[in-house]
Amino acid sequence: MNYLAGMNSHDLLKKYFGYDSFRPGQENVIDHVLAKKDCLVLMPTGGGKSLCFQIPALIKDGTAIVISPLIALMKDQVDALCLNGVPAAYLNSSQSSAEQQVVLQRLESGELKLLYLAPERLSAQNNSLLHLFKDLKISLFAIDESHCISHWGHDFRPDYLTLGKLKELFPGVPLIALTATADNQTRADILHQLGINNAKTFVSSFNRTNLRYIVEPKDDYYNKLTDFLNQRKNESGIIYCLSRQNTEDLAEKLRQEGFQAEAYHAGLENKLRAKRQEQFKLNDAGIMVATIAFGMGIDKSNVRFVVHTHLPKNIESYYQETGRAGRDGLASDVVLYYSSGDVGKLRKFIDVEGNSKQTKIMTKKLQQMSDYCESKVCRRSFLLGYFDETLNEPCNNCDVCLNTSETPTFDGTIIAQKLLSAVIRLKEKYGTGYLIDFLKGSESKKIKEEHRRLPTFGKGTEHSRDEWKEWIRHLINLGYLQQSQGEYTLLQLTSKSRSVLYDGEKIQLPIIASKKEAREKRASKDSGISVNYDKELFDILRACRLELASSLQLPPYIIFPDSTLAELSTFYPQNTEELAGISGFGQVKLEKYGAVFLKVLVDYCKPKGIQSKMSEKKSKSSISPEKKREKTNATKLETLALFQHGKSIESIAEERKLAVSTVASHLTHFVLTGELNVLKFISKEKLKIVQETIQEHGTESAGLIKVKLGEDFSYLEINAAINYYLKNRVKAD
Ligand code: ADP
Ligand code: ZN
Repeated sequence: MNYLAGMNSHDLLKKYFGYDSFRPGQENVIDHVLAKKDCLVLMPTGGGKSLCFQIPALIKDGTAIVISPLIALMKDQVDALCLNGVPAAYLNSSQSSAEQQVVLQRLESGELKLLYLAPERLSAQNNSLLHLFKDLKISLFAIDESHCISHWGHDFRPDYLTLGKLKELFPGVPLIALTATADNQTRADILHQLGINNAKTFVSSFNRTNLRYIVEPKDDYYNKLTDFLNQRKNESGIIYCLSRQNTEDLAEKLRQEGFQAEAYHAGLENKLRAKRQEQFKLNDAGIMVATIAFGMGIDKSNVRFVVHTHLPKNIESYYQETGRAGRDGLASDVVLYYSSGDVGKLRKFIDVEGNSKQTKIMTKKLQQMSDYCESKVCRRSFLLGYFDETLNEPCNNCDVCLNTSETPTFDGTIIAQKLLSAVIRLKEKYGTGYLIDFLKGSESKKIKEEHRRLPTFGKGTEHSRDEWKEWIRHLINLGYLQQSQGEYTLLQLTSKSRSVLYDGEKIQLPIIASKKEAREKRASKDSGISVNYDKELFDILRACRLELASSLQLPPYIIFPDSTLAELSTFYPQNTEELAGISGFGQVKLEKYGAVFLKVLVDYCKPKGIQSKMSEKKSKSSISPEKKREKTNATKLETLALFQHGKSIESIAEERKLAVSTVASHLTHFVLTGELNVLKFISKEKLKIVQETIQEHGTESAGLIKVKLGEDFSYLEINAAINYYLKNRVKAD
């Protein structure tokens, strides 16, 4: 049955998934699999791994077998595929034998394009399926969460070991292993265990640009947390706690304050656990307070925040747990409350009894996790550095970047004194607006005659209203002023005001940028798709989606991700043709749900006189590749200049707030261009050894060379040697 003959992967992407273009990395993998070759795909959570096997599954004849460890995840993926009109099913222990029989029949008839299975389905005791596969046409094997096959990984599952025989049994069927977390050692092990040692490894960028990374001191964290949650009342998120008891206590406390929060941990009865997980998926808002037992089976794409109230065990886990936020690509926050005391507490947990080698590895990983929290460099550049990836400049979307680019301050003591004395002169009976008019010496009739005669009247004309407003807010935040509670908000002094007025206490005030500048700055920090969508329309669409989801008994995000709703509320499509241009509307969904959403859109736009903005959708310009290149070069040159002034890599990193690995990559770049001598980074003897390894393993993966050469060689040395090798090869060519 080849009803898709003649369609290429792009056509299928649009027809079945409603997407216009592939994400970085997807297309290369798809082409590779279509060429019947094996591979390992490393992509961050939310990067879009599923399409890497789903599209080839659609194109190739036969059925694709997808191995996935979690039942809940399987169901979601299959539901999502079915909604898009792709014939898919799963087999697992949650089904009755009659249901399983139906699936087996569909499998044997060749009707299924994809079949999802848990790994134990293919174990030695349970291998009837393997025999059945021999008689069927299998298009490919996809092994999701493939790090579970390795002892080196952080989530080893013995059942995965049975997958090692697949390649032997089906040598002609392409095998695609996928994971979001694997260091070099784990990568090599996955290939080895699956018997595909020579398979190509595709590594996508691990940069999740829509996530904002924040680390905060843990003291008084509960108040910080509730402030944070109060600003996200209609959103959904996960709070990770260390112990089962912690989750229960925190959930209870939050519920008492009116938050919709539930606890989740492995100690709960199975039924209750499943119920809470289901509730979380079905609700658009709501907080799950959980141990790390929660999450593997969750692909809810509109999780808007992930909070850690304790230190995670290692960076891999942290990255995976935080990765559950913002899969739909919309801006999301991840917050970690850090206390150095947590490091000691966790030491006890990571002891692997009777295995000192493993314990040593785990201890080192824990140390790196605490380094992350204590480091003063851009969080993202630290994280990416850990995964051997470099970020060329600070990200402007983490607490370190946002704090350093924070508004500079100046000595504002005199200004503060003016403000506070004006408050006294006005007898603490007026609000911000009046106070500013008063300081600016306004002509307005509002200002009482008697006030015009006061000595402080008009003493603040040299500053703008915006400045005064910000400074007043600032003084309130610092506790030098307060606002009254009654019907009118009046500005009043506090016990601290005295020391500024009479005891000469110095006050630092922020330099206020003009509104336009501030707006531009903010806009450049915002990430994700269409941050400026119409919130009112978004909420109406969300309600419509929820109703539809309830009637189908499916989680809302499976019908459409939030990013689709955000696009709809940005571009206001007004007919079916325009609707088809919105990401997420594939052919089947357009036919099934197009009319419902279109009606909402038209009903909303007509009375308001809003017109379609679809013409703006395509013209969204991005930074040109040339501009990007210029920017990259500039940042590298800046590093070079500092290095040539005799600064060490570490001090450059500190000064530029970049990860050491980033600075190192800037510098090794200049080995390639010939501007820096390779011997600045590696000794002659070691250079010779690396070059020999390069001869054998190529220059493609520094990681692989590092695995071969071991601890004695640093990435800096290896990368310098690789670039030196490449430079000479270019010459030789
Ligand atoms: P992963 O398995 O890597 O965590 P998924 O395959 O679940 O990620 O994809 C994450 C989200 O991104 C899903 O909602 C998916 O539909 C969406 N997505 C994947 N590829 C694309 C694409 N090319 N264009 C738009 N959205 C995509
Ligand atoms: Zn940053």
